[in-house]
Amino acid sequence: MQRRNTNQRKIIYEIIKSTDIHPTADWIYEKAKMYIPNISLGTVYRNLKVLQEEGLILEITDGRQSRFDARTDRHYHFKCIKCDSIYDIDLDMLHISADLKHLTKKGFKINQINIDMEGICPKCSKGVNLEKNN
Ligand SMILES: [Zn+2]
Ligand SMILES: [Zn+2]
Repeated sequence: MQRRNTNQRKIIYEIIKSTDIHPTADWIYEKAKMYIPNISLGTVYRNLKVLQEEGLILEITDGRQSRFDARTDRHYHFKCIKCDSIYDIDLDMLHISADLKHLTKKGFKINQINIDMEGICPKCSKGVNLEKNN
């Protein structure tokens, strides 16, 4: 039983790692079924939780929907409001960390920083004129 659970978890982890679309649990479930035909959505959720606890994946949630990310180094996300895609964004943290140092000196203890970006991705903005050119 233990071994089977470990194998399922490994497959689920590999599925998340194989994509950069930041999939939902449903998407992962559909893929997992190709390898483990009798897997249930509940099992997928359970394994996602364990993977999170092990620090192998991150959960990204906007309050409505959870997506999962096998990239756990520091990076940020841009969410397209048109196609719902999530993109990995690397920011130059140089200025931000200087500001953070000042805050720390003032006595602020920072546990977490969230930078959420939302907008329209290059794919969706292509060919779409947001401003009317008269
Ligand atoms: Zn888009
Ligand atoms: Zn990411």
